[in-house]
Amino acid sequence: MPKTYDKIIIPTNDGSEKEDNRSSSTKRSTKKKNASAAADASAKNSKSRAKKNTNKSDGKKSAADTAKKTASDSAASVKKESKASSRKVPSANKSGSKKATAPAQKSRQKKIQSDSVLQIISLGGLEEIGKNMTLFVCDEDAIIVDCGMAFPDDELLGVDTVIPDFTYLESIRGKLRGLVVTHGHEDHIGGIPFLLQQFHLPIYATPLTAGLIVSKLREYNLMSEADLNTVHTGDTVELGCFSVEFIRVNHSIPDAAALAITTPAGVIVHSGDFKIDYTPVFEETADLGRLSEYGEKGVLALLCDSTNAERPGNSISESHVGSSFESLFSRAEGKRVIIATFSSNIQRVQQIIDFAENHGRKIAFSGRSMLNNVQIAQDLGYITCKENTIVDIETIKSYRPEDMVIITTGSQGEPMSALSRMASGEHRQIKITSKDFIIISATPIPGNEKTVTRVINSLLKLGSDVIYESMYEVHASGHACQNEIKLLISLVKPKYFFPVHGEYRHLVKNRATAISMGIPERNVIISEIGKVVEFDHGKFSFNGTVESGHVLVDGYGVGDVGTAVLRDRRHLSSDGLVVVVCTIDSGSGNVISGPDIISRGFVYVKESEDLITEARERTQQLLESLRSSGRLKRGEMQDAIRAELGKLMYQKTKKSPMIIPVIMDI
Ligand SMILES: [Zn+2]
Ligand SMILES: [Zn+2]
Repeated sequence: MPKTYDKIIIPTNDGSEKEDNRSSSTKRSTKKKNASAAADASAKNSKSRAKKNTNKSDGKKSAADTAKKTASDSAASVKKESKASSRKVPSANKSGSKKATAPAQKSRQKKIQSDSVLQIISLGGLEEIGKNMTLFVCDEDAIIVDCGMAFPDDELLGVDTVIPDFTYLESIRGKLRGLVVTHGHEDHIGGIPFLLQQFHLPIYATPLTAGLIVSKLREYNLMSEADLNTVHTGDTVELGCFSVEFIRVNHSIPDAAALAITTPAGVIVHSGDFKIDYTPVFEETADLGRLSEYGEKGVLALLCDSTNAERPGNSISESHVGSSFESLFSRAEGKRVIIATFSSNIQRVQQIIDFAENHGRKIAFSGRSMLNNVQIAQDLGYITCKENTIVDIETIKSYRPEDMVIITTGSQGEPMSALSRMASGEHRQIKITSKDFIIISATPIPGNEKTVTRVINSLLKLGSDVIYESMYEVHASGHACQNEIKLLISLVKPKYFFPVHGEYRHLVKNRATAISMGIPERNVIISEIGKVVEFDHGKFSFNGTVESGHVLVDGYGVGDVGTAVLRDRRHLSSDGLVVVVCTIDSGSGNVISGPDIISRGFVYVKESEDLITEARERTQQLLESLRSSGRLKRGEMQDAIRAELGKLMYQKTKKSPMIIPVIMDI
């Protein structure tokens, strides 16, 4: 199979690899750094864009659009099918009518001739929102769609990241043909560095997604070996017996794609994370025409985003957020504006930049991921602004506060984020006062409500105005609500409906939506992580399970946090630590110094002097009795100390601190 997709070029430190053919009129960013791989990717990308549909670019927007007009097509093996679609797209309302699609569906489902059996195995993303990863296995080939991470919950103390269990992949290593990525959110790309540490796989992703993957791989020093290929929506990638077409959808990050995966056993459509935005900020509306073309040909199964399956109606358009911002900016007259949002929501950031420019304000960014993502997006032409709009956060003192907009991370109240540091007065450049007008432009992810409330309270105490969730439409979800899901079903006309990307309650809600559209209940697949969903001659069945679950990552290491470590951390966090130190003559067993009792996180020593004194005396007596009975084995002594003090501490405090005896010999 020929493989000549656009490769991400790894730049040298001095940027000499840089090949940037974008026109200067569209590249007006002020903070252009040395060449990043993302920029190189953009330049390379432009070559295969020539055949793409014309965009409704308004001239200001995508630099890549400009580039693609001038570039020639070099990606020979990336198939581009004609996308001329004159069919009228059915409206959401029409599609809502009960059973409307069922008969048509039946006649269009071609009988699958092939004897090939297709297996779809979710290694993450079911009964959870996070660490999405789906494996497709057919004949001698397998592909992976997405490889995400999840953020740990409160129970997983000190764990940074949770990723899928890759054990099963080991057993089909020889079949793996590649990793296809739908978009650049962490729950879809966060696990990639860990996957690449174990498996050498080519990766296929759209330009912004590829740019974000590059920065991730660099962080883990994996860039030099990575086989990262940039594709565009409309492109088809051949991977063994699979051909995968990337189809444009809308989402809260640009460049999101649904996938049409053609296999010998039938066509599978994977929605990716999607919404249908008829008035997106600078992209086009989801490619409904292409989805319906697949629907006409016959789709065996639709894997469908379930995140907002509980919400009736339609999601709010991203551009609608703009009108909210407009009135907020007017209200903020005379004050500094600080807006917290997701750093990956490039469309939102662009809107804020536009409003800032309209109101004659400068922009500064705060927060590592914000700076990083904005840089990548600027390099690829997804963020554009006037020459002097963006200023360095270090220089904001030289501007009047009412002339500034600060875009920051921390919309989820994350403890170390820039917004949290502002709230606690620990931010180096920004002190919050009554002259600040703060907008939190995101909804708290379930579980984060408490921390967000804490941050809002602190900001209010400092005298600032704070606008959040319920007060204005300052956020638009990136995920489809029921009407959009119905539209997708009516276009794709799947035989089987497979809800993915959601908690169990979202999956069953999505099932109800599909049933209301005339899909029989037995044709809705509610699966679990590790369950093998099998399609044989167009018929679905479950066929056992494979090893799956989650792997905890602490720092950069994988799997070095076991349950024992977690148990210890939980123990320490609830009851604290007591260390007993003594020095013993290794010959006679006499205590030479100590025992000293050190406690941390257990009791305040000054107030519990009696307890500590008693602990010291008991240890002394114990060591004496051990010596006289000749029990001088280290392990035995330590166990005895632990048992004795454990009893004492529990009697006196009803707590069981972790007790660590340290016995030194001389
Ligand atoms: Zn997403
Ligand atoms: Zn997602």
